[in-house]
Amino acid sequence: ACTAESVAAALRAAAGAVVAHRDELVRLDREIGDGDHGENLKRGFDALVSKLDAGVPASPSAVLRLAATTLISTVGGAAGPLYGTAFLRASTAVGDVAVLDGPGAAAALRSALDGVVARGKAEVGDKTMVDALTPAVVAAASVAAGGGGVAEVLEAAAEAAEQGAASTVPLVARKGRASYLGERSAGHLDPGARSTVLLLRALAGAAR
Ligand code: ADP
Ligand code: MG
Ligand code: MG
Repeated sequence: ACTAESVAAALRAAAGAVVAHRDELVRLDREIGDGDHGENLKRGFDALVSKLDAGVPASPSAVLRLAATTLISTVGGAAGPLYGTAFLRASTAVGDVAVLDGPGAAAALRSALDGVVARGKAEVGDKTMVDALTPAVVAAASVAAGGGGVAEVLEAAAEAAEQGAASTVPLVARKGRASYLGERSAGHLDPGARSTVLLLRALAGAAR
């Protein structure tokens, strides 16, 4: 069952993935950005783990809200407010339940995407995290509608996100720092799309 404790464990797994892939995210962001994406996320997830160590909030929603406020105040850059908003919207969507289920997880992902789009105004094809998160939301909804639980929903989301992230390689960036490069941004994987894959994979793995 996906309780507050399991959401916290999943976020710890996400933090572990960020640490393990810090250098890869830095390298990707060096190619088409300013090279700080891995460090930005590591700072945020390290801070989140410290807060979870000090005490896990009582509900899944409250854990997600703690993730949101921590990431907003520590990550910085473009990704901080975007991921922060994603977790904040997810927290609101989850609402007052003690145990998260498949449809709840799918709804949380949908709200997370809506938050990212409301904040960053990127569309699919702009070469951002939205290119990974959008197919993830579609896949999650379909698996949840078919009766899938949280683990199945997140696994489908992660797999779809992987495809979506891969689709960013040939694209010319139209949002964020990479857009300053114009045509030269083509031929590189978007760092934020990559981190979205890593986060979803880690969350899915922890839910299994
Ligand atoms: P910064 O570019 O400020 O250094 P980061 O390196 O932490 O911030 O994050 C860069 C990532 O943020 C990009 O790879 C992209 O996926 C995402 N991003 C940037 N702008 C937007 C936007 N407007 N909407 C959605 N995602 C965005
Ligand atoms: Mg950067
Ligand atoms: Mg930066």
